[in-house]
Amino acid sequence: ERRAALAASSGPGATSDGHKVPLLANVGGPGDVPAAVEAGAEGVGLFRTEFLFLDDSKNAPSEEKQVDAYRKVLEAFPEGRVVVRVLDAGADKPLDFLTPADEPNPALGVRGLRTLLDHPDVLRTQLTALAKAAEGLPVYLEVMAPMVADRADAKAFADACREAGLRAKFGAMVEIPSAALRARSILQEVEFLSLGTNDLAQYTFAADRQVGAVSRLQDPWQPALLDLVAASADAAKAEGKSCGVCGEAASDPLLACVLTGLGVTSLSMGAASIPYVRTTLSKHTLAQCERAAAAARAADSAEDARAAAQAVLSGE
Ligand code: PEP
Ligand code: MG
Repeated sequence: ERRAALAASSGPGATSDGHKVPLLANVGGPGDVPAAVEAGAEGVGLFRTEFLFLDDSKNAPSEEKQVDAYRKVLEAFPEGRVVVRVLDAGADKPLDFLTPADEPNPALGVRGLRTLLDHPDVLRTQLTALAKAAEGLPVYLEVMAPMVADRADAKAFADACREAGLRAKFGAMVEIPSAALRARSILQEVEFLSLGTNDLAQYTFAADRQVGAVSRLQDPWQPALLDLVAASADAAKAEGKSCGVCGEAASDPLLACVLTGLGVTSLSMGAASIPYVRTTLSKHTLAQCERAAAAARAADSAEDARAAAQAVLSGE
């Protein structure tokens, strides 16, 4: 089935009327690159760098080890885009030497960019390693921070990137509702946004992503989540900047059409989903995607939003 999906789908992501939506891969390291290339990913939209930090529970990996891993991923996409996320430690991704052990609510505590701003040496080493890894390569490097809450966070991250001499675009992940609501302010400091819909759902609905009993509220079709996606995409458009999605939402072919209709400019997902998303997107015009997005936002539940979008896209 996977082979058939791959064979039926190739080339850049686009709607049937040619509106381009680059389809990028989420990777955890060099080991995920072959599948991304095979699926025809146009680059990497989320390189989760946490994996590099898992071997040693007491220390950060050396700069050399990081340069080596980053370079392997960057080399796989000559002329392509690679979006690297700096370390997202804490909450569902705890690291012994960085994550406070005594927090009552780790998901609301020191995690993501907050951890890195508390450990500037770890951030500096990572950014320096990225600068060295990209040296001399034609790749189009973008570096983003997880868990940006406000403009001050975005500025602190951009300053750290500049201080490390990193020649790349700097971006902010939108994973906290405050960042979606004030996206234009954040875009005064960074050049792009990337929506992490897994965490954005968790924080919008106060529903822990690790607790199965509240998984209903983690559904990315929830209209409130779509509203925050729309607010972010509108802000990016007004600022002439890009706004991608790299959470699980992007891997649902129907939702990918809705996200496109909301104004999202690229979609990043596990490589296995790329052929399905590419095929579905190629069957609908941008105007249909926009109508599906409007219908989904007008609904009052995730189920109704999905049904409404499905009805528009299947021409009912
Ligand atoms: C997200 O939160 O949607 C995301 C892409 O990051 P992670 O799943 O790694 O937290
Ligand atoms: Mg996240």
